[in-house]
Amino acid sequence: MAATTATTSSGTSDVAHNHEIPFPATASAAHLSCAGNAQKAPLASLPTRTFLRSLFLTSAMASPLLTPCLLLMKLLVDSPSKLLRPSSNPAMDYLLRRTIYDHFCAGTNEVEVRQTVHEMKRLGYKGVILGYARESIAHVNQCSHQETRAAVLQEQQQQAQWEEAVEEWKEGNLRTLKMLGEGDYLAIKFTGAGPLAVHSLTRSDPLPPPQIKAAIYEICAAVAAQKSRLWIDAEQQVFQAAIDSWAVDLMRMFNRPGEITKEDTPIVVLNTYQAYLKRSADILAGHLRLARKEGWGVGVKLVRGAYIAHDQRDKIWKTKEETDTNYNGVVRAMIEGNYPSSSTLRGTGSELESQGPEDLPTVRLFVASHNGESVAKACTLYQQRRKDGRKTIPVEVGQLQGMADEVSLGMVAAGGHAETKPGVFKCLAWGSTEECLHFLLRRAVENQSAMQRTKDTAQALRGEAWRRAVAFMRVWRV
Ligand SMILES: Cc1cc2nc3c(=O)[nH]c(=O)nc-3n(C[C@H](O)[C@H](O)[C@H](O)COP(=O)(O)OP(=O)(O)OC[C@H]3O[C@@H](n4cnc5c(N)ncnc54)[C@H](O)[C@@H]3O)c2cc1C
Repeated sequence: MAATTATTSSGTSDVAHNHEIPFPATASAAHLSCAGNAQKAPLASLPTRTFLRSLFLTSAMASPLLTPCLLLMKLLVDSPSKLLRPSSNPAMDYLLRRTIYDHFCAGTNEVEVRQTVHEMKRLGYKGVILGYARESIAHVNQCSHQETRAAVLQEQQQQAQWEEAVEEWKEGNLRTLKMLGEGDYLAIKFTGAGPLAVHSLTRSDPLPPPQIKAAIYEICAAVAAQKSRLWIDAEQQVFQAAIDSWAVDLMRMFNRPGEITKEDTPIVVLNTYQAYLKRSADILAGHLRLARKEGWGVGVKLVRGAYIAHDQRDKIWKTKEETDTNYNGVVRAMIEGNYPSSSTLRGTGSELESQGPEDLPTVRLFVASHNGESVAKACTLYQQRRKDGRKTIPVEVGQLQGMADEVSLGMVAAGGHAETKPGVFKCLAWGSTEECLHFLLRRAVENQSAMQRTKDTAQALRGEAWRRAVAFMRVWRV
C-alpha cells in the first residue's frame, strides 16, 4: 500500500502509512483519514472554477496582502458612507460578490442557494448546515445596563417595528429551512431577530420575549417535522448567558420523545459551546446534568469561539494552547462518555471526571472546526471505539464553506465504513452582500489569526494545482 506524505500544522512532514493510526498527535488536514489514508487526492473533486477561486483567494489570504484587505473590510463593515455600502453601490456589491462573497457564501436568493447545496452534496458531503447571515453586533462598551435602559425607553415606541423584525427573522428562517432536506441543519442566530432580541439577550433574560418564543417554537416544530435539525449559534459573551438559557428551554421542549418525531430521544436542537471560554466545560457539564435529571437530550456543537476580537478577554483562555487543550479534552470526554470539567481538563486534557458512559443523557456531538488535528483526533477516537464495540455517542464534523476544504474533502475521501465514519457537513451562510459583511469580516480575521493553517490550505491547493497540471500534460502529451 502506498504511503502518503502529510504536512503537519507546524509545517513539518510526517509519513502516514495505510494502517490504523490510533490517535495521531498531529495530523495533516490534507491527508486526513479516520482509519487509514485518504483514497484519492481530496481536492480533486473541486470544480475547476471553485478550485481556481480558492487557490487565488487562499494564496492572497496567506500573504501580506491580507492586512490591507482586512483594514478595507473593517472600513466597509463600519462605514455609514453610501459609496462604500454594497446595498447602495452596485460596483462595490459586484466587486465583493465576485471575490470573497462567492468564496464564503452560498447565495443571495433561493435559486443560488439551492444550486450551492446541490453542489455540496455532489461533492460527497452527508449534508449541509445553512444559516441566514443577518445578525447584530454589539461592542462591549456599548452594552452597559444604563445605556440599554435608555435605549429601551427610547425604543418602546418602536414596538411595532421590533415585532416586524422578529416576523421577518422567522420568515427568513422558515424560507431557509425549505432549502434544506432531511438530516440537514438550520443554523439560527438569535441576534438576527433584531432589537427586541438584542435587548433581551443583553439583559440576560432567562426566557425570550413572547414574540421571539412563539417564533422560535414555530421554527423548531417545522424543523422537527421535516426531520432536519437546528443549531443555535454562539455569539458574543454579552449575549451568551441568555442564549444558553434559551437553548436549554428549546432542548428541554424539542429533544424529548413527542408527537412530532417518534425517536426515543430525538436531538432536534443543538446548542453551541465555545471552548475558548474558561467556563465552557462547566457550562456544558451543567446542561448535561440537568438534561439527565429531567429526561431530555443535549445537542452539542463544539467550536473554539469566533469573537476573541470583540469580547471580554479575561473570560477567555490566555493562550491558544489552553483553548486547544480544552477543545480536544471536551471532545474526548464526550466521545468516551464522560462529563467534561474545566478543573480536570486544564493542563492535561486526559484526567477527566469519569462517571461512566451510562451516566450521560442522550447526547449528540458536532465537532465544528477547521483544525485538522482536532478533527482527526475526534474521528480516530470515535472510529476506534466503534470498531472495539465500546460505547460512544453519535459524532459529526463540519467546516465552513470556503475554509479548510482539504480537511472536509479529506474526510469525505477517507477510507472506512460509512456507518462508522462521522458524517461530514459543510456550513453555508446566505443573504445579501450587505447582510453577510460581518460574517465575511470574521472569516478574514480568522484567516489572519490562524495564519499557519491558512498557509497549510494554500499549500494543499498548490499541490492540487500541480497534480492537475501534470494530469493535463499527460493527457495532452505536452
Ligand atoms: C461549522 C462551524 C460553525 C461555527 N459556528 C460558530 C458559532 O456558532 N459561534 C462561534 O463563536 N464560532 C463559530 N465558529 C467559528 C469557530 O469558533 C472558530 O473561530 C473557528 O472555527 C477557528 O477555530 P478552529 O477550531 O477552526 O481552529 P484553530 O484555527 O486551530 O483555532 C483558532 C481559534 O483558537 C482560539 N484562539 C486563537 N488565539 C487564541 C489565544 N491567544 N487565546 C485563546 N484562544 C485563542 C480562537 O477561538 C480562534 O478562533 C464555527 C466554525 C465552524 C467550522
